[in-house]
Amino acid sequence: PYTINQVKELVREFPDFPSEGILFRDIFPIFREPEAVECLVGHFVEQVRGLGSPIDAVVGLDARGFLFGPLIALRLGVAFVPVRKGGKLPGGVVQAKYQKEYGVDVFEMQADGIQAGQNVVIVDDLLATGGSCRAAEELVGMLGGTVVLNAFVISLEGLEGRKQLKAPVYALIEC
Ligand code: IMP
Repeated sequence: PYTINQVKELVREFPDFPSEGILFRDIFPIFREPEAVECLVGHFVEQVRGLGSPIDAVVGLDARGFLFGPLIALRLGVAFVPVRKGGKLPGGVVQAKYQKEYGVDVFEMQADGIQAGQNVVIVDDLLATGGSCRAAEELVGMLGGTVVLNAFVISLEGLEGRKQLKAPVYALIEC
């Protein structure tokens, strides 16, 4: 079995990807090791249970939040709800715009994904400027939900993403 420190060591860094000057953090090696996934999911479940508030849904961000969000939701016995880039989800949706490095992007959530009064945890692989997670917080708010935690594998602390967010942040790796 993996320890959480061994899981952290599986995250790799790629300089100059996807463009020059960017140091890309890659979490995919974790998913090649079932026992590492088991450890990671168990660790996030512990963080959520430690909050002490009942959770109704895990909200995963497009696209790497879809890798482990459903596993956390399954373990907690709650719903998984995706936040996707604009135009991908059928039916009624709510929309929030956010600033990317170049230009503006749109996130959407199905309008019946969350009910008013529900508590949710947002998950993604990495927190950078916080723009995308802030948009997800807004979507949850539009539907009357409350974000009780934003959980990431990695937080790039220098970019101060957590200052953009209303709800508390948990990151397994802070760098
Ligand atoms: P933010 O909106 O600036 O916080 O950027 C976070 C989003 O960009 C997340 O959805 C991440 O998946 C993605 N991202 C930014 N940098 C990296 C990286 O180094 N590795 C993996 N994803 C990244």
